[in-house]
Amino acid sequence: MKRPDQRDRNRGPRREFKRETAESRREAVLSSWIPKTEVGKKVKSGEIKDIDDILDSGIRLLEPQVVDSLLPSLEQELLELGQAKGKFGGGKRSIWKQTQKKTKEGNKPKFATVSLVGDKNGHVGIGNGSAKETVPAREKATRRAKLDVMKIRRGCGAWACACGEPHSIPLKTSGKNGSVVVELIPAPKGTKLVIQKELRKILEYAGVKDVYSKTYGQTGTGLNLVKACINALHNLNLVKVNEDFIKKSGLIEGKGK
Ligand SMILES: [Zn+2]
Repeated sequence: MKRPDQRDRNRGPRREFKRETAESRREAVLSSWIPKTEVGKKVKSGEIKDIDDILDSGIRLLEPQVVDSLLPSLEQELLELGQAKGKFGGGKRSIWKQTQKKTKEGNKPKFATVSLVGDKNGHVGIGNGSAKETVPAREKATRRAKLDVMKIRRGCGAWACACGEPHSIPLKTSGKNGSVVVELIPAPKGTKLVIQKELRKILEYAGVKDVYSKTYGQTGTGLNLVKACINALHNLNLVKVNEDFIKKSGLIEGKGK
């Protein structure tokens, strides 16, 4: 056991080192990137500077480096949707869902995971991936999550608040996946995210700070719940709004103008 003062001394420099390598890794990936798509070429050359322009155009993203380039503050984490270890559903949820395939050569395990990416400023994406090893499974999931990045509508739709700032969502919305329904409801400032843990991460990564929620159906199945929440955010983007409402609710899309 280390004494507290010893731990403190170690903490500072080590953390800085970690951040540096993540940043330099990102730069290395981007400098060696040879874009294959029209959009990719325009991003690399600097002609496209705003991801929202691409997302507005409806062009499907095919290169994750586009997202890496245009959203430098993008963060990533794996959602805990795997089975709990141990009998009787006890224990902690895992980021891995493990399956066994029985073959002549013996059991072949496979790992599946769900990755979440977001800039905490109006952009979020999820993706799943599976492989025989954990590292490629995570890479596949994160790549898909980046390609799936979408703009998030934020605003203040809580009548009890009506501050006109984008701390919540502008309107009530709901989404569905399988039998699961997720409802997201605008909440006043300071409410925080009143929602299941993994969904809270999605909203955090999207940059939404206050929300109420309701869920219906077989919510125990994690992936359906996550997909229903993403669907609710997607449906929110489809709602037609007029200038008056945009002004009143402080509605912004993506990072906002
Ligand atoms: Zn408000």
